[in-house]
Amino acid sequence: MNKRIEQGDTIGIIGGGQLGQMLAFSAKATGMKVIVLDPDPTCPTGQVCDCQIVAPYDDVNAIQQLAAEADVITYEFENVDLDALDAVKDVVSIPQGTELLRITKDRIREKTFLKEHGFQTAKFAAINNEHDFQIKLEKVGFPCYLKTCEGGYDGKGQVRLNNEDDLKQTKEILQHCPCILEKAVDFKCECSVMVGRNVDGDISVFPVSENIHRNQILHESIVPARIPSKVAVHAEETAVAIAQALDLCGILGIEMFIGNDDQVYINELAPRPHNSGHYSIEACNFSQFDIHNRAICNWPMPQIKLLQPVVMVNVLGQHVSGVRNLIFEKLDWHFHDYGKSEVRLNRKMGHITILTNQLDQTLKEIDQTGIW
Ligand code: ADP
Ligand code: MG
Repeated sequence: MNKRIEQGDTIGIIGGGQLGQMLAFSAKATGMKVIVLDPDPTCPTGQVCDCQIVAPYDDVNAIQQLAAEADVITYEFENVDLDALDAVKDVVSIPQGTELLRITKDRIREKTFLKEHGFQTAKFAAINNEHDFQIKLEKVGFPCYLKTCEGGYDGKGQVRLNNEDDLKQTKEILQHCPCILEKAVDFKCECSVMVGRNVDGDISVFPVSENIHRNQILHESIVPARIPSKVAVHAEETAVAIAQALDLCGILGIEMFIGNDDQVYINELAPRPHNSGHYSIEACNFSQFDIHNRAICNWPMPQIKLLQPVVMVNVLGQHVSGVRNLIFEKLDWHFHDYGKSEVRLNRKMGHITILTNQLDQTLKEIDQTGIW
């Protein structure tokens, strides 16, 4: 059921983390009502929206209540219960559908989809058991990554294998088969592109972000990415082509490797706002959250403009106390805090956006704080 969504209507969000929170901020700015489903009564989204249903994500009764109260349903993470969504698809608009989630939930399905549609990925093989792994390792070769097909994030559920010595680390991962074995891409840098598409098929594409990871967690995003403009154009065109191939509705984060051969390799797809797109709140004419909300409401899709070059830095649990002092030193930095009550090592607590015309200087300034 796809109904036209207007100002004053209600957006229902499954998941109450920071992505839901920033979706809610954007939705509220355009006069929408927002209701969130999350088991934690203190969750970031619950703090800023009209109403929260406090229940587990896969609670069918709770999803039915969400469907009854909302005009359109969306989600802020990919591990949504597909059966629960299917159960309400006749009573509420779910313009993103369930097919995109089905593909992106599973690394094998995702990479197979990309390959079948002509998009370049790392060489990969499906692994169903230990024996399979021995055989496929011969074909893929070192260095490679062994990853669980479902549920991994921020480098969890995966190991990099450089040589035979690393094989002892595979036991734990292989217990969670099916897995995927991927050849390590020899990359110059990691990038991502956010792309949004509405129900009518109109598209907004964001500029390429260069992403620097520390301990496999995003540390900084730099926009525009420091790659040749020909490669950037190709990355953006590839993002648009992927959105079309998927019949996308909503926002999609596309993680890419820019190879030392200057080729673009697609790493993974996130059918939701993405950490590497947070820069767009201050640096673009529309944020990734604005675009997602417009897309699911089937409003027209604007052309995205980068207003100023930008660096986004993540604030993890271990950075919080240091960052609080920075507020008084860095007067033109934008400090975001998601309002999470529990501070934990490596937990995403907030981020900082720095608009800059002197990128090298800004990167140095970040390092000189000694916080990261
Ligand atoms: P996650 O869901 O944890 O983000 P990713 O597949 O994006 O999983 O892997 C996390 C990080 O590990 C990537 O950002 C990249 O730095 C590295 N990585 C993963 N797969 C590969 C690969 N095939 N080649 C090179 N680096 C990889
Ligand atoms: Mg990733």
